[in-house]
Amino acid sequence: MSNKIQRVRGTRDLLPEDSLLFRFVEESAYEKSLLYGYGEIETPIFEFSDVFHRTLGETSDVVNKETYDFTDRGGESLTLRPEGTAGVARAFISEGMMQNLPLKFYYSGPMFRYERPQKGRYRQFYQLGAECLGYDSPLADVECIALAWDILQKIGISADCTLEINTLGDVESRAAYREALVKYFTAHQDQLSADSKMRLEKNPLRILDSKDEGDKKLNANAPKLEQYLNETSQTFFKKVLEGIEKLGIPYKVNDHLVRGLDYYCHTVFEFTTSKLGAQGTVLAGGRYDGLIETMGGPKTPGVGWAAGIDRLADLTPKELAIKKEVLIAVVGADDQGEEESVKVAYEIRARGLKAENFLSGKMGKKMQKANKVGANYALILGGNEVANKTVTVKNFATGEQTEITREALKSFEFKI
Ligand code: ATP
Ligand code: MG
Repeated sequence: MSNKIQRVRGTRDLLPEDSLLFRFVEESAYEKSLLYGYGEIETPIFEFSDVFHRTLGETSDVVNKETYDFTDRGGESLTLRPEGTAGVARAFISEGMMQNLPLKFYYSGPMFRYERPQKGRYRQFYQLGAECLGYDSPLADVECIALAWDILQKIGISADCTLEINTLGDVESRAAYREALVKYFTAHQDQLSADSKMRLEKNPLRILDSKDEGDKKLNANAPKLEQYLNETSQTFFKKVLEGIEKLGIPYKVNDHLVRGLDYYCHTVFEFTTSKLGAQGTVLAGGRYDGLIETMGGPKTPGVGWAAGIDRLADLTPKELAIKKEVLIAVVGADDQGEEESVKVAYEIRARGLKAENFLSGKMGKKMQKANKVGANYALILGGNEVANKTVTVKNFATGEQTEITREALKSFEFKI
């Protein structure tokens, strides 16, 4: 039995320096979402298993192999959410929000998938995402992609990312394409991976998404959806591409892009990077007009995306995430000074400034620590300063040292 005190495989501890980056990414995304009129929604981390099993499709990898399913003490079948869209759609239906369309939601939080852990791939990972419900216009796809692009720009990684985009067409086009794929893959069945043989029966489109090397070779010569797109689908895709071109967002059409989930139609897209090794997709999404109906709600079009925060944070330049602000070390030179230092630090922080207080040790050691944490100033307090209601201010940048009154300290201007 593994009752060792360890992290569970595929989970991570986000230490303070990781959290700084995570917060920066989430706050940037949240701010941008507000600019686009997306409101934050927080759905539960677990749902009835059906919410995911019905929507993600029984042939998807996520549902077949990756969900954390369990029965609770009341005998309910529950699943830890592997992604955000199904929960948002469930909330839309069960909260009766149909009267308020169109609706735009932003979310972020942990997701759970039983995957093979590796760098950039975890069993508890974090996503932020956006869902736009109620528009069947391709312009909604454009705005949704624009939001994603704005976020990548804000967190300083857009230059490392490429937008890959494709269309899956509407229901009619997909049906025709599906037929062509079945014909092609059936003729090469012996070369398909075991997983893809199963996909061939249930959802042949998914074979195009396979990571198996043999499948990939077959995929290179598979029929292209392009040839099966009806006029409606072609026009839709053209409008999406024109829209993103108009905004100056660079993109590449990738006709192999199909996305892992069943509920997509028309637009699918991914932002990929070459900077993260094998786990190169940082953000992925598309249009899912059939999803809400599949879940028992009214027919409602939708388009959205999700991004892996773990991967975004890996790419984000630290200097962007870490705010440059003045740090003031408060240094008690003796017992009396040390006691008073708590109050001085308290008053500094009340001004909204960062103060680090050293609560034990000799004065020399404290000054060393102040240097080590990168303090810009030291406020030195000994018995004399306490008696005279003063403090000695040392500016580390200039080496300058002056004694000022505690009254003057209240409005002293600290500069970096
Ligand atoms: P992949 O092809 O990498 O398995 P996916 O198609 O399963 O990705 P989505 O379900 O579309 O991914 O999730 C959107 C984003 O969430 C991904 O692009 C990725 O950045 C992130 N993501 C997905 N699974 C994981 C994971 N196990 N660990 C970390 N990030 C993940
Ligand atoms: Mg996956």
